[in-house]
Amino acid sequence: MTKKFTKPMKRNWKDDPFPASGRHYLYVCPDCGSRMELHDLRDGDQAYWCHPCAQGHRAGEPPLEALRHEASGEVA
Ligand SMILES: [Zn+2]
Repeated sequence: MTKKFTKPMKRNWKDDPFPASGRHYLYVCPDCGSRMELHDLRDGDQAYWCHPCAQGHRAGEPPLEALRHEASGEVA
């Protein structure tokens, strides 16, 4: 028996520069640790925004400090 696990869905996963974004990672504010909200920008891009701090970053270029793994338990 030979099984091939070559599904088209797998390719999208590998092409994603942030494979866990929106899946097992949380976006939190590097300063206050609050959960950041995804907002649409006027130029069509999207950004994560922290309301208490009034600061944020574009979804395409999140700082590493803003990424928290859900299962790591390191959520501040
Ligand atoms: Zn904040």
